[in-house]
Amino acid sequence: MTKHIFITGGVVSSLGKGLTSASIGMLLESHGLSVRMQKLDPYLNVDPGTMSPFQHGEVYVLNDGSETDLDLGHYERFTNGPLTRNSSWTTGKIYLNVIDRERRGEYQGKTVQVVPHVTNEIKRVIRSLEADDVDVVITEIGGTVGDIEGLPFLEAIRQFSLDAGKENCVYVHLTLVPFLKAARELKTKPTQHSVGQLREIGIQPDFLICRTEQPITREEIDKIALFCNVPSSHVVEERDCELSIYEVPIALADHGFDRLILEQLRLKGRIEPDLSHWYDILQRLKTPEHQVTIAVVGKYAKHRDAYKSVYEALDHAGISNRTKIRIERIPSDRLDRKETQEIIRSADGILLPGGFGERGSEGKIEAIRIARENGIPFFGICLGMQYAVIEFARNVAGLEGANSTEFDTETPYPVITLLPEQTSGEETMNRGQNSPEVRSLKSEANHLLRLGVKPTALREGSRAAGEYGKLEIAERHRHRYEFNPDFRDALGKAGLLIAGTSPDDKLVDVIELPLHPWFVAVQFHPEFCSQPTRAHPLFDGFVAATVSRREKSEPQH
Ligand code: GLN
Repeated sequence: MTKHIFITGGVVSSLGKGLTSASIGMLLESHGLSVRMQKLDPYLNVDPGTMSPFQHGEVYVLNDGSETDLDLGHYERFTNGPLTRNSSWTTGKIYLNVIDRERRGEYQGKTVQVVPHVTNEIKRVIRSLEADDVDVVITEIGGTVGDIEGLPFLEAIRQFSLDAGKENCVYVHLTLVPFLKAARELKTKPTQHSVGQLREIGIQPDFLICRTEQPITREEIDKIALFCNVPSSHVVEERDCELSIYEVPIALADHGFDRLILEQLRLKGRIEPDLSHWYDILQRLKTPEHQVTIAVVGKYAKHRDAYKSVYEALDHAGISNRTKIRIERIPSDRLDRKETQEIIRSADGILLPGGFGERGSEGKIEAIRIARENGIPFFGICLGMQYAVIEFARNVAGLEGANSTEFDTETPYPVITLLPEQTSGEETMNRGQNSPEVRSLKSEANHLLRLGVKPTALREGSRAAGEYGKLEIAERHRHRYEFNPDFRDALGKAGLLIAGTSPDDKLVDVIELPLHPWFVAVQFHPEFCSQPTRAHPLFDGFVAATVSRREKSEPQH
């Protein structure tokens, strides 16, 4: 029988609920249990693929092509259960189902209401992850307790334990215990109020995880326990991690939180947990042997969450290479400034992530030129690969004015363009179609995004094949434009290597410069498939290349 853990958040947003949920999932997996994770978000957008990265951080793409919230990235980095489009729900998506059902007459003329119809749909969604081979479903409720939007979700999870049995459900509430500098003390009142709000709705949390900057004393823990009606041992301190987010699961395990949860759910682990590989990660983070600076050049560089998975994947490669990575975020529209150019020139590596729209085009092309001409390791992702092709076409192959038709429909050399076969309709969903940025390209609105996991055949002997250690790979895509096959010969003759294509050889997925120390660009998004314990091979190789460049440039002793 599948058991359920519900995770809510109180006091303020951005407490790291996704991270805590993922850490709980990872700890339960370490007991040999099979876990599924899910996020329910209270906003009305039907899916996060339509939201601007400026507001909402990156759009995280799953194997099946679903465009989801970045918290699902945490789930995949920490846990191994498969995620699908059923792992991410919004109020909009829930209401859409209810309204569709109403239009089809399935409610037989009854008054359709939030309770019970919307709440029933929420419960159905939660239950849809149950299966014989699933021990625990972890459901994270987005937003903060007290928000009007979140009420139907809280009502649904309250009802859930009535249906499923109290012993099969655990409620975990994540709250903030702020430190008031002037009073020099931690304040427990916001936590009491937030739990009070939950209890008004009818949910008595079983566990409180208290986010704090300072250690919480025994008396404070006892006070929180008393006022919030939970045993003291169920009040867990989660202090700000100094080193890395990968300390969170270890901190929870040190408290014995995983065992307490299992006890509460009357579940037995299948194996004794072995967290040695996680301790190893922390050890490597604490005692790096090298340090490099990597410039990440992008339209959303100032927004910390917009390239979340890219930064995480770099950290994973840092862990595997025992290297501390300093990331220099460079907004691409600043690239003409002298000091930014200096930073790029002195970086040990340059990474150009994906994106939509033209802002900062020329700056990005300039950054690639600097990397190419100076032998600085370069890694291009999605739009980053398209720019690398444009730069090469213009500055090496002599195709002046070469461009992507995304930015210039009149270009004499459309080296990146829409391909006709894509209009015929791939099976993948195409919801990102409505994203504000994608939509701004009205004329191409009929073009499908190439979305979700696709196979790529790598060329034997290429650097990419060397990094992966195999020739057949599959990676996640989210783009509409492609390398224009009409230019394969011309660019190939000038020295660009097509290192990977779709298995039918029609679409170019990987390009390289064989004469450069490390210049690889890919049409897919490798950052979505990297874990702290298993760095993605391309990130791993890229960081290794930055380390050797650094070592060569440092004076030998
Ligand atoms: N804008 C480009 C395209 O649509 C690249 C997309 C991306 O980087 N995700 O093809």
